[in-house]
Amino acid sequence: MSFLIPCPQCGKRSVYEFRFGGEVLQRPEPSARDEQSARDGQSAAAEQWYRYNYVRRNESGPQTEWWFHRLGCQQWFQAERDTRTNQVIRTCFPDQAGRPDQLDPPDPPDLPDPKEPSPLAGP
Ligand SMILES: [Zn+2]
Repeated sequence: MSFLIPCPQCGKRSVYEFRFGGEVLQRPEPSARDEQSARDGQSAAAEQWYRYNYVRRNESGPQTEWWFHRLGCQQWFQAERDTRTNQVIRTCFPDQAGRPDQLDPPDPPDLPDPKEPSPLAGP
């Protein structure tokens, strides 16, 4: 089935110019605590990684997905697509996705302002 995808860089193009990259998922934190869960001795971190690698929602309806414009701008972007009709509702680059909990880098740690005097410095 052919349909058009509006690349945020290039505009509407045939789906055959793109590579499907799967559902947009929440990657587990690398620092996820490795606590023992109540059932079958699996760790909570292992469960998170298992779900991230193998479990898909496979929505029947609007779903946010990764797409790569392989015959165009060679960039990854996200598309919200209705899987029942292949209608693409919207597309955007990851930094425009508006889901900072998934895509933005974590905030840097609070560092002291180098212009302020060090609390370790004497009077
Ligand atoms: Zn493109």
